[in-house]
Amino acid sequence: CGIVAYVGHREAAPLIIKGLKRLEYRGYDSAGIALLNGNGLKVYKKKGKVSALEAELKDKDLLATVGIGHTRWATHGEPNDVNAHPHYSNSGRFAIIHNGIIENYASIKQSLLNKGYTFQSQTDTEVLVNFVEDIQKNKDCSLEEAVRIALHEVVGAYAIVIMDSENPTQLIAARKGSPLVIGVGDDEYFFASDATPIIEYTKEVIYLDDYEIAIVKENELTVKNLSNEEIDPYIQTVELEL
Ligand code: GLU
Repeated sequence: CGIVAYVGHREAAPLIIKGLKRLEYRGYDSAGIALLNGNGLKVYKKKGKVSALEAELKDKDLLATVGIGHTRWATHGEPNDVNAHPHYSNSGRFAIIHNGIIENYASIKQSLLNKGYTFQSQTDTEVLVNFVEDIQKNKDCSLEEAVRIALHEVVGAYAIVIMDSENPTQLIAARKGSPLVIGVGDDEYFFASDATPIIEYTKEVIYLDDYEIAIVKENELTVKNLSNEEIDPYIQTVELEL
């Protein structure tokens, strides 16, 4: 039910954990984080409070300047460690966090099962990240294009952020029906369900609209609609009390 993601020059893990705590008021049953560094993609997730995840992270390798974090309010699959987000694709290349519901996940899952994909969780979210991977592989296209094609097929509501272990300076986010705010800093970008995890670092924010995709790559932010047309995002200054 809460999203926090970061790409930039700070240590991502403590920033994401702090941000998830700010979103705790939204309610949730589990929490998780994925980090990317020279040793690859690391995913940690835990049923229960963000503080339980934090305890789990003690003495783990958390050095990373890109990461995605999530608090989950289960809709598909019971609250447990495996169903907690982030979820990653079969190849291990892509990791996703998702708020919302993919209503047509069952038919997409069946077609992926027919192709030999396997699933660890009962979630609709793990289906989406593998759907994106399948499109990316078949078309040999960019992650951005694969996400766009996938979202044309998806019925439901979502705020998502996807991380690509082959492109550690990149995060791709999109929304329809669930909120997503982008914080624009100096050579750093934040994504969150509301502005509270962000304003400590920057007051410049963009409220992503439905059917928009935000791509951060090598310190550049591009916002597009699902027809691949670039949008000039409206950057506003927020004044919120912490
Ligand atoms: N539908 C997803 C799940 O059950 C996401 C739930 C949420 O918004 O936290 O895992």
